[in-house]
Amino acid sequence: MKLKKWKDCPSCGAKGSMKYKKNITETFNIEGYEPFIIVSLDGYFCSVCSEGFYSNKSEKIINSNLADEKAKQDSQKIVASELIEIDTLARKLSVSRQRIHQMMDEGKIRYVYVGKLKFPVKSGIASAKSAVKRHK
Ligand SMILES: [Zn+2]
Repeated sequence: MKLKKWKDCPSCGAKGSMKYKKNITETFNIEGYEPFIIVSLDGYFCSVCSEGFYSNKSEKIINSNLADEKAKQDSQKIVASELIEIDTLARKLSVSRQRIHQMMDEGKIRYVYVGKLKFPVKSGIASAKSAVKRHK
């Protein structure tokens, strides 16, 4: 998908204020997590109120990085009994293992790291189910 070219700000209504920006470094503050930084983002932002939109590519990078960063930070908080095997989850949702990996990468299934391996978290299964439904 091509990035929509914004001119007027949909947020504050300023005319011609939307400018394309690249190499944006953004600090993300999510409740319950340590803040973390993602670099090299791009999108259209308002020079008046600084509201804006990331490009689709940047949105994907953000979703993927958010999921990954949460996974790393959650790894210290979540106990093994809250995890589910990828195989088991794939069977439960009737999708392939690859799809599970893809959904974790897209931030649609919450997961944590155990060593270098990713494990889906049981509490994230409900939202994963609805993501699968939307996809079908
Ligand atoms: Zn604005």
